[in-house]
Amino acid sequence: MHPGPSVIEARKIRVQGIVQGVGFRPFVYQLATSLYLAGQVSNTASGVTIRLEGAPEGLLAFERRLSAESPPLSQITQIDVETIQPNGCQEFSIVHSEKGAQRATLISPDVSICEDCRHELFDRQDRRFRYPFINCTNCGPRYTIIDDIPYDRPKTSMRHFKMCPECQSEYDDPGNRRFHAQPNACRICGPRVRLFDRAQNEIEATDPIEIAVSYLQAGKVLAIKGLGGFHLVVDAQNQTAVATLRQRKRREEKPLAVMSAKLEIIRRYANVAEEEASLLQSIQRPIVLLQKNRDYSLAKGVSPNNRTIGVMLPYTPLHYLLMDASFTALVMTSANLSEEPIAIDNADAFERLADIADFFLVHDRDIYLRSDDSVVRFVHQRPRFLRRSRGYVPVPVFLKHRVRPILACGAALKNTICLTRGSEVFLSQHIGDLENLATHDFFALTIAHLERILSIKPEIVAYDMHPDYLSTRYAQSLDHLEQIAVQHHHAHIVSCMAENQVSEPVIGLSFDGTGYGTDGSIWGGEVLLARNDGFERLAHFAPTAMPGGAAAIKEPWRMAISYLHQTYGLDFLRRRLKFLENLDSNQITVTIQMIQKGVNAPQTSSLGRLFDGIAALMNIRGTVAFEGQAAMELETLATDLGEDAYEFAWLSREACLIDPGPIIQGIVMDLENGLPCAAISGKFHTTLIKLFSALCRVLKKETGISQVALSGGCFQNALLLKGLAQALETIGFQVLTHEKVPANDGGICLGQAVIADAKT
Ligand code: ZN
Ligand code: ZN
Ligand code: FE
Repeated sequence: MHPGPSVIEARKIRVQGIVQGVGFRPFVYQLATSLYLAGQVSNTASGVTIRLEGAPEGLLAFERRLSAESPPLSQITQIDVETIQPNGCQEFSIVHSEKGAQRATLISPDVSICEDCRHELFDRQDRRFRYPFINCTNCGPRYTIIDDIPYDRPKTSMRHFKMCPECQSEYDDPGNRRFHAQPNACRICGPRVRLFDRAQNEIEATDPIEIAVSYLQAGKVLAIKGLGGFHLVVDAQNQTAVATLRQRKRREEKPLAVMSAKLEIIRRYANVAEEEASLLQSIQRPIVLLQKNRDYSLAKGVSPNNRTIGVMLPYTPLHYLLMDASFTALVMTSANLSEEPIAIDNADAFERLADIADFFLVHDRDIYLRSDDSVVRFVHQRPRFLRRSRGYVPVPVFLKHRVRPILACGAALKNTICLTRGSEVFLSQHIGDLENLATHDFFALTIAHLERILSIKPEIVAYDMHPDYLSTRYAQSLDHLEQIAVQHHHAHIVSCMAENQVSEPVIGLSFDGTGYGTDGSIWGGEVLLARNDGFERLAHFAPTAMPGGAAAIKEPWRMAISYLHQTYGLDFLRRRLKFLENLDSNQITVTIQMIQKGVNAPQTSSLGRLFDGIAALMNIRGTVAFEGQAAMELETLATDLGEDAYEFAWLSREACLIDPGPIIQGIVMDLENGLPCAAISGKFHTTLIKLFSALCRVLKKETGISQVALSGGCFQNALLLKGLAQALETIGFQVLTHEKVPANDGGICLGQAVIADAKT
């Protein structure tokens, strides 16, 4: 203790947020002792409580530095300081947590290896040299290895590894950066990697990672167990290896993500803006969508028909060891058959991936909860999630107000669920498309797991109005809970309002592919007046038939026929359109009959389907391998937008029905006149921007509302999001967009929860 400050004061400081299991108490200990302050720090039910005593300057400095210098994984949401009576204590100590503490605190997500650990990983003198599970309080796995709370080693998948004396002494020393690092381990006491062939024969080696690297260099497909699940990995510059992976994985066209060792290497094949660089290097290490550059040289099959490529930097020690071998990039894609959940379990991986991978690099640290890589794209100066998962989950979204305990089950595609606690909304990791049993099991498991580790017992369950979604059926089976069905596009808009902490009414542009409407038809091009507790449908696209129902989603040429028929009647058959020549006349006849008789031809007002239909009409793509592919390729064609646009019109002013007819007519004429597709795509995007800003201007006058929210899967389209946001800002709107959760159905559970609370 520093001798003799004449005035002694004392404070009690309560800190809330992610402050447990992230090295917060040792940080407080070091800060306090460096400032000659006495007292103690302990974990409590709501965070961390610090008792401090010493000279006033020291106390002031402590308060200032507490949030400024807090550990990288911590996230402080609130600090309360109270002046109390000094009690003459002389030392600073870390007090053990009370039993029952930690129930209401936040759990850290899994984050990338820190600089200190990375340095040790490549230091020959270090006892963890090339040890693939090196970690500390500032880095490593958290969420995916927790089974229950409090977050202590026996409640994690590290419980099977007893620390050696050296690891134990690091763990027990408050001055060590591995103090209470639950996954702490070394080569002697911790998990290890092993290499197998597809027949499960072990390939014995002193360094299995080195052998794995040599297989990758030889063009083999490897299944590699990572942080949140298995990845399938091949050399991204090897055409044959990439093609083999695609063919075996039955994923013919969806872009594959890649990993490169460093930023400088990424710059060899993609443009990296400053904000993209900092996102790539952030501890969350998401996949960032980047523009390919002129020198792009990765295998053609990595990201076909696409200007962008999804790239990430290594985030585990194992990745760094793999990337050390001078690959420009490795393909790193979630190890699953298309649309099944990512494999996490060794036995499961051997079974499910036996026909895909040549070799398996596995380890014996169990993953309790799978978590796919997150995907982000920078648009209009902000990061936008396409998928919010590893690195971000389970950090909550904070609402402006408290809500009742709610479980919201999401929709069907790109499913995520959420649970609420006070003003916090915990969205789950990416669960996937709820279309098969495996995903449904993972969905139910995630709900149970999150309820347990967050100590939340929901009173209300919210779900999509669609009667056939598996998420709806699941919600309806929970008959002990109050049940609230929520309209899909309403949920999109309220999700956007909620993450922006807005609760007054807004004009909502809710644009996506599919959502069940209150009239039983399929909606998707909706302009709503939205409140938390309800909405009015102000305008929408005039309904168009979807000949073949769900088949029209997989085969956009059906939508093209439908829009043409709606615009020209049977006269469309006389237009000189290349895409018609590619179709079999029988197909066309059957499709026309479906539309005319209204058999297996549900009506839709979806903007996603209009994108699809136009892409097919332009002969870009008649069938798709994944949802949104045609729309994505249409976007890719247009570079920047000019002033040129198509006519637009209202079919009925009173009902505010937007007529797609004039747009279709304009495009058909341009196609007949041989205008390049890039120009047509640009004009179409400009048309949508002009149409909806004109409409919003009118609605603003009528309703007096000057806030507009943009949500739904169509806003993954960068041209549409940026163009519309700018146009609306220019005419005096405050524009709410998504930054914390995806605009697609991966963010919809947030809106469902807020609506359910408002309605009960
Ligand atoms: Zn570390
Ligand atoms: Zn050890
Ligand atoms: Fe949607």
